[in-house]
Amino acid sequence: MLALIKSLLETYLGGFVRLIPSYYLFGSSYRDFFRYYYPSNGNINKNTEDLVRLNLSRIIALSKKTSFYNADNESIEQFSFINKETIMLQTNRFLISKAGADYITTGGTSGKPLAFYINKNRKGIEWFWMTHNWSKVGFDVDKSWRAVLRNHKLHGKKVVVNRLMKEYQFDNFNQSAQYLDFVIDFIERKQIPFVHAYPSAAFQLAKRALSTGKKLPCVQAFLCGSENVLPAYKELIQNELGIRMYTWYGHSEKLILAGEGKTCENYHALPLYGYAELIDENEQNITQSGQTGELVGTGFINTVMPFIRYRTGDYAEYVGETCPDCGHIGLTFKNVTGRWDGEKIYTSNGGFVTTTALNMHNDIYDHISNFQYYQDTVGKLEVRVVPLPTFTQQHKVEIKNEIIEKVGEQLVITVVEVPDIEYTINRKYKLLVQKAVV
Ligand SMILES: [Zn+2]
Repeated sequence: MLALIKSLLETYLGGFVRLIPSYYLFGSSYRDFFRYYYPSNGNINKNTEDLVRLNLSRIIALSKKTSFYNADNESIEQFSFINKETIMLQTNRFLISKAGADYITTGGTSGKPLAFYINKNRKGIEWFWMTHNWSKVGFDVDKSWRAVLRNHKLHGKKVVVNRLMKEYQFDNFNQSAQYLDFVIDFIERKQIPFVHAYPSAAFQLAKRALSTGKKLPCVQAFLCGSENVLPAYKELIQNELGIRMYTWYGHSEKLILAGEGKTCENYHALPLYGYAELIDENEQNITQSGQTGELVGTGFINTVMPFIRYRTGDYAEYVGETCPDCGHIGLTFKNVTGRWDGEKIYTSNGGFVTTTALNMHNDIYDHISNFQYYQDTVGKLEVRVVPLPTFTQQHKVEIKNEIIEKVGEQLVITVVEVPDIEYTINRKYKLLVQKAVV
């Protein structure tokens, strides 16, 4: 019955409900953050540091209610770093209460997923911050419609409308040229201003639009998160199609959320969402721009199971404590590579290279519709490509030579043509399928 009401609301009544501004619609958690972030004196920057300190002291106070954290810790620097394994081995020692909480698992691409409790009200808070990010490229939370190409399976339907969320959901599991043409025509006919998509899906759609001569002038921006963003995606969407590809970094643990700026393409951690740090291999805070380290988060949203100084397994390049390009206050970084274990390609000399190091030359994307690295044996790497009609043997040689140039003889490279690549169960793109036993 509840499901029926939900469906009716989303399909038919949502349009009326959305006449109520988001401020009321998304609940008290959304309103709390709204007041928090837009203080009555209007001076956001001046308040930021005070509010960060306040949030940190709240989380530290909560840590004393768990049996895991050291009850004597009074400042964030006193806490030791933890990671996925720390929590998996002793979940209950982190738990304060199950009341008002959901039990969720992260859909990691490698290894065992992490399961934990988190406040039910996270959705309103998340929506507030996510749309705050999108507002940088003109998104209006009360007015803007989105075409969504993420993890929806539509079971034969071509499009589903959710008036409450102002979204048209498309089936990202169907990427046939015919279906992409339908999506492109639909976006043009309805003049949909935002395309909210996995980066890989945005790339496929943009590629199809370009090849059919439709430049989607109604689209103000692609809104892309939840997967690695390859340089080739930005190149095609921004430089060839001429549409902004706005991306962000976030994760299901809800500790760090960082979005690009209005014109600046660095990632700016939102200081009131969580406390973000970047550390080197000796667990020291990085202070030099250009240095790469691991992102560490202390979340402000989860008050039932506090995550303090959690090593995310994601790596990024340090830009600054504030952004030198746009003046944002808060950790600023770029060049994120997702969960490290999934990104290592093992070489015959006992070391590894990362998928980021292997970035393929942009020209090759004109001749393939997709590609993926596949490794099941240390020292060997298969590059799987889904060819376009213009793909030739010469391109295979180019791909191979380009990789050898970067890694030397430590990897035996083969390039194979495949009809399609593998995706995760949520239809996320996987750059690397790693099956080697190390
Ligand atoms: Zn910036």
